[in-house]
Amino acid sequence: MSSDDKRPRGSLKPPFALISDIHSNLPALEAVFADIAARGIERVVCLGDIVGYGPDPFACWQLVRARCSIIIRGNHDQALGAKDLGNFHPRARSAIEWTRNQLLDAEYGPEIIKTLINLPRTAKVGKYLFVHGSPVGPTMEYLLPGDSYDKPLMAREFARVPAGGVAFNGHTHIPGVIIKGSRFLPPEALSGEKIELLGRQAIINVGSVGQPRDGNPQSCYATVDMGDVVSFHRIDYDAEGVCKRILAVKELDPFLGQRLLAGY
Ligand code: ZN
Repeated sequence: MSSDDKRPRGSLKPPFALISDIHSNLPALEAVFADIAARGIERVVCLGDIVGYGPDPFACWQLVRARCSIIIRGNHDQALGAKDLGNFHPRARSAIEWTRNQLLDAEYGPEIIKTLINLPRTAKVGKYLFVHGSPVGPTMEYLLPGDSYDKPLMAREFARVPAGGVAFNGHTHIPGVIIKGSRFLPPEALSGEKIELLGRQAIINVGSVGQPRDGNPQSCYATVDMGDVVSFHRIDYDAEGVCKRILAVKELDPFLGQRLLAGY
């Protein structure tokens, strides 16, 4: 048996890019994919919430499906199949219902919805774990910056992170890094907005492509390079154009457009 035969199946070698929380924002997604391509990176992992909130659910799904090698299910993707949306904020609920109708009107709409709601909740590839929310609650649980001070919670979360590896998540739309035993650090607290992992266990939130909420309206995503350095990237796109299109759809709350301009 050659040494190659002993490699874990489905290995994912850097460089690769990570995107999350696209939320039907096509101009932001296109700008991010253009930046990924300009870096010569081919492999892209999507951590979910492809749809919900924005005006282009079908086009965003088409692009993610064509370009991403791993796609994780987000809570908004999952909600397309839910009968009861009572646990969602009214403006999110209305956006989900509008999104579902948009997809049902598209070619192969029912199949697309079926695919989205059946996306995997997690993927573990070698030393990387990919989730939407958190290692403990892969689809629904929010891991907010302040949670990094909760030692019992962090112990439960890190127990699910591969040894010497990293869990990548999204869901809060707030990018940053939690190295085991340390507090949450936003990208701007890292030297050069990047971090060398050095075999340390970490939970890394890659931020949001389509609806950033960290006060910076630029689209956010992350890359992992061959030296296991994780870098955060901020990309300009036409947020005003997307805002205008959201304001033109009565089922989409105007706040969903306005917040894109402020990044909160
Ligand atoms: Zn989201």
